[in-house]
Amino acid sequence: MAETVFISGATGFIAQHIVKLLISKGYHVVGSVRSTAKGEKLKQNVNSENFSYEIVEDLESVGAFDAALKKHPEVTIFLHTASPVTFAENDVEKEILLPAINGTKNVLKAIKAQAPQITKLVITASIVSVDSVGSKSVDETSFNSITWEESKTSGFAAYAGSKTFAEKAAWEFIETEKPNFTLSTIHPVYVFGPQAYGVDGELNFSNTVVSKLLQLKPGAEVPVTIGSFIDVRDVAESHLVAFEKEGAAGQRFILTNSRFSNQTLLDIINANIPELKGKITEGIPGSQTPTPTTINDKKTREFLDFKYIDLKKSVVDTIEQYISSQK
Ligand code: NAP
Repeated sequence: MAETVFISGATGFIAQHIVKLLISKGYHVVGSVRSTAKGEKLKQNVNSENFSYEIVEDLESVGAFDAALKKHPEVTIFLHTASPVTFAENDVEKEILLPAINGTKNVLKAIKAQAPQITKLVITASIVSVDSVGSKSVDETSFNSITWEESKTSGFAAYAGSKTFAEKAAWEFIETEKPNFTLSTIHPVYVFGPQAYGVDGELNFSNTVVSKLLQLKPGAEVPVTIGSFIDVRDVAESHLVAFEKEGAAGQRFILTNSRFSNQTLLDIINANIPELKGKITEGIPGSQTPTPTTINDKKTREFLDFKYIDLKKSVVDTIEQYISSQK
């Protein structure tokens, strides 16, 4: 009998790839979405009788996941991906920090109270709960030391705080409540890559790092951005390894591949997408050499033991899909 996996935030960029992979491997999947319209659209795209959805309109409302879990006693694995992904600087406490933290607490409580048959929880955390500065050496044991007050100082700080406090709450719950389920967390850096079921409207936040370069006209100066990337298909696969492979329980996995700068992204786009030749800036090829990484992900790579998709393929797949959707 196939196992059933519950995934929160099933409409997300990363989540849709996880759903696609789970279905291709024969799992049954129940996804939480915020509205019927979003659920129906996803169901149509997934196009499998092994996929169904439940509405969880508001991550934060008390008992948000209780009804969905009560209705699905067949679920044995929970993947929690839903969280606000934005650096918007309005009311950061209300819009970023509290939904992320309370949403995670709601998941933990719902599993314990309503679904004792669930044995594994995987949370999509982030590199920002490992470190938000990027200047000191970190590995799978590192935690961001950001405070609540610091979290409220900017949109980015709020995102970093939201992921850090949500993750800490989850490990604390495991420690103090000793539930029936184990926890593993996935910590990606910037996630690039194509959408699982084609581009529909706006791209998700991290892919706009790549797509916004298409707006730089020939001769335009290239703003400096340097970071680390991982392809979305590798992030999806890591979520499966995190519940399938013996020894994953209790582990934190850092998902990072190579470094990039805006200039290295442009160099890839200009060399590989002939359609854009002469329509976007070339910048100064070879400039903006990325600084070396400060992340030690040796333990994760050894555990996951699969080959990551390289930056060139990730960027070309992202841009080719994006420009064909704009036609
Ligand atoms: P995404 O496409 O924006 O997906 C976010 C998901 O969370 C969507 O399903 C969204 O629902 C849901 N969501 C957001 N705020 C919500 C709220 N207040 N109530 C209920 N649902 C809410 O982003 P993503 O890149 O796939 O991110 C997925 C997870 O990966 C997040 O936990 C994020 O922090 C983490 N992550 C992402 C990156 C990256 O570079 N992309 C890197 C590290 C970690 P709607 O579709 O209805 O908006």
